[in-house]
Amino acid sequence: MEKADVVIIGGAVIGSSIAYNLLNDGFDGEVLVLERDPTYEHSSTALSVGGIRQQFGTKVNLDIARYSVPFYEKFDELMEVEGERAHADFRQRGYLFLGRKEKWPVMKKHYEFQQSQGLEVRLLKPQEILEIIPHVNLEGVAGATFGPRDGYLDPHGVLSGFVKKARSMGTRYITDEAVNILAKSNKVEGVETKKGEWIQSPIVVNAAGPFAQEVGMMAGVDIPVDPMRRMVYECKPPKAFDYEVPLTINTTGLYFRTETGGKILTGKSKDDEPIGANFTWERTLFYDEIWPELAHRIPLLDRLRLQGGWAGLYAENRLDHNAILGEHPEMKGFYMAVGFSGHGLMQAPAVGKALSEAIRLGRYETIDVSCLGIDRFETGQLVIEEAVI
Ligand SMILES: Cc1cc2nc3c(=O)[nH]c(=O)nc-3n(C[C@H](O)[C@H](O)[C@H](O)COP(=O)(O)OP(=O)(O)OC[C@H]3O[C@@H](n4cnc5c(N)ncnc54)[C@H](O)[C@@H]3O)c2cc1C
Repeated sequence: MEKADVVIIGGAVIGSSIAYNLLNDGFDGEVLVLERDPTYEHSSTALSVGGIRQQFGTKVNLDIARYSVPFYEKFDELMEVEGERAHADFRQRGYLFLGRKEKWPVMKKHYEFQQSQGLEVRLLKPQEILEIIPHVNLEGVAGATFGPRDGYLDPHGVLSGFVKKARSMGTRYITDEAVNILAKSNKVEGVETKKGEWIQSPIVVNAAGPFAQEVGMMAGVDIPVDPMRRMVYECKPPKAFDYEVPLTINTTGLYFRTETGGKILTGKSKDDEPIGANFTWERTLFYDEIWPELAHRIPLLDRLRLQGGWAGLYAENRLDHNAILGEHPEMKGFYMAVGFSGHGLMQAPAVGKALSEAIRLGRYETIDVSCLGIDRFETGQLVIEEAVI
């Protein structure tokens, strides 16, 4: 039987950030990460679009973002191992939310809230948007908010940065799948793996992304998180833009940004997407909805070549679309860092720090994320974030 002080199920960006933070904060126990796929081929992290923003409408998400963005600014240096720096390639080209007339009062409310919290964010009149994207068609746009410190990074660079650093500090990564969580008298005792190993541990962390519910059920805990497909499209205009397009959210929810090689990366949530771990990538959404919307907003894109794309999974918190963090109130030693929907990459640094504090100290010191505990679904105190995409 293996023994550890903390077992983390899932070793992508969230699990590895927790491992890194624990050891960086001086935890002297054994941290073991159980990851069933060391290639991370199907992890949400590897399949994400890399958007990083601070523009949120709730205090807790804003605090998480305000911790995470400066962390990513120093990421390459912080994750240096034996003189080799990481490569997050964080491009702070900004995050631009375009607002239509009906949505404008909510956007202004968010802007005022963000300003009151000292966030660097600008409220733009339609003409001012042209200074940021000269090719934009302003039809139906009442204004925009722009976060100049926001942007996008390379998710693979971030993932390998966290993994290498966590390993170098002593985290043990084991390639195996958790199939059962052992518990006695409502207290976690360890994990059983697919290869038939038993790992004894008083603390088990669920960082299984879209499979959070499956892992929760192993401990008898119902977590309201479902896997939900999201498709991404990579296309190439006949002529590359001579500036980097910020991560832009159209009035319709469509997003687009520059990708290396003169390409545009784009996507949009499909309203009727069924729940399920479906990785099939379909062109139809692009031709039926995305391209017409893209070409309307940036008329230059009425001619382009769809070069490819992929499908990945959101870990969709079906109740309020926000993270579920911390120890389960009735299953001692069972911690969760799940349900990030579309913003887990940008929240990973702060989430790692928060979980490290919860595990080591039994309280949050740096950022109070207690409102994101799973007990909110019992008390009805949902965290409603209007600035979720
Ligand atoms: C198309 C797309 C675009 C996105 N864009 C953005 C964005 O712009 N910005 C942003 O911040 N976020 C974005 N996200 C969301 C972001 O990718 C996720 O929130 C984040 O990566 C979650 O990380 P994770 O470590 O929790 O999950 P994952 O990366 O999915 O990792 C979970 C890991 O757990 C492992 N695992 C699962 N079950 C078990 C088990 N039983 N035993 C062992 N291992 C197990 C899996 O193999 C996997 O490696 C996007 C997601 C998608 C799909």
